[in-house]
Amino acid sequence: MEYRINRRTGDRISVLGFGTSYIANAQEKEAVATIQRAYEGGVNYYDLATAQAKTFSYFGKALGSVRDRVLYQIHFGANYLTGTYGWTTDAQTIRRSIDWQLKALKTDYMDYGFIHCLDEFSDWQEYKQSGAYALLLNMKEQGIVRHIGLSSHTPATIQRVLDDVPVDMLMFSVNPGYDYQKGEYAKGSVDERSAVYRRCEAEGIGISVMKPFAGGQLLDASLSPFGQALTQYQCMQYALDRPGVLTVLPGMSSVAQAEYLLKFFEISDAEKDYSLLGAFSPADAVGHCVYCNHCKPCPAGIEIGLVNKYYDLARNADAMAVEHYRALTLHAEDCIQCGHCNQRCPFRVDQMARMREIARYFC
Ligand code: SF4
Ligand code: SF4
Repeated sequence: MEYRINRRTGDRISVLGFGTSYIANAQEKEAVATIQRAYEGGVNYYDLATAQAKTFSYFGKALGSVRDRVLYQIHFGANYLTGTYGWTTDAQTIRRSIDWQLKALKTDYMDYGFIHCLDEFSDWQEYKQSGAYALLLNMKEQGIVRHIGLSSHTPATIQRVLDDVPVDMLMFSVNPGYDYQKGEYAKGSVDERSAVYRRCEAEGIGISVMKPFAGGQLLDASLSPFGQALTQYQCMQYALDRPGVLTVLPGMSSVAQAEYLLKFFEISDAEKDYSLLGAFSPADAVGHCVYCNHCKPCPAGIEIGLVNKYYDLARNADAMAVEHYRALTLHAEDCIQCGHCNQRCPFRVDQMARMREIARYFC
């Protein structure tokens, strides 16, 4: 397992997290064994926006005894009092649902309390007016909520909420389909989506990734907007290469699925390579480096993906990215202009020109 640090909270978070969208389909015994298998594999981050109320007791049984070693993100606005998921902004209902969820989880606190699923700006206004946000703050003051998160599919709404209130973690729908303007939740332009990633990285807001496979569509050639299936590993690597992303939360509902996903840490880089997407870049993404490293190896030894990522972040006033860039062993000025990367890049990036531009920027 690999871990990344949330710079705002100091939490050490496994890059493979646990999504709960499908676990209600499993029988209890299998569900509990799946959660335990993921935990044994090093997964320590669990999202609890699940489909059915019964899921919470599965986690209580599987992880109750190791509660202090795992992190839960729980959603203020996901109501389970009826037995199945429902969206609400009613503060009293949220309070009762949260109390019930914590009891079923065998805990008395949550690591991240999320402002839940705001896709329109009007949702945020309603959330504040209803007292739901005040409830979240109040429970943070009481120590029941350690940190505050936000879940949303919509870049414009995310930016407005982040302008309004401090948030330590963002749950965002990230996959190549949505980033390439394809699919139900492909909200925001390429630039608007990139701006969310860059802002989160600059401000230390961690991103936990929902819908990394676009609800499974990307895994099936007959459903994929690219007409070609991607693997779960390719989608995970794609998400983990976006700035700000700390963890990907695929839904797991069987021990076999958990084991398959854990193999991500054993397979070769070639099996995670998602450069086939270069053939599908929308017009406004052509020529933009996506940090995939398909152009490796660079004969000069430059980490091309990292150099490009730090440059893009630095131009977004990210002081830490400047430090990271300067700490690299090799820099853009070490480029010998051999042209290997230009020939290899499926995203049609003129990387030779980029290296000259980056060297000028940091000189
Ligand atoms: S230059 Fe192209 S191949 Fe290399 S990291 Fe960037 S997008 Fe990937
Ligand atoms: S052109 Fe520069 S960055 Fe690209 S492969 Fe050659 S030395 Fe490396």
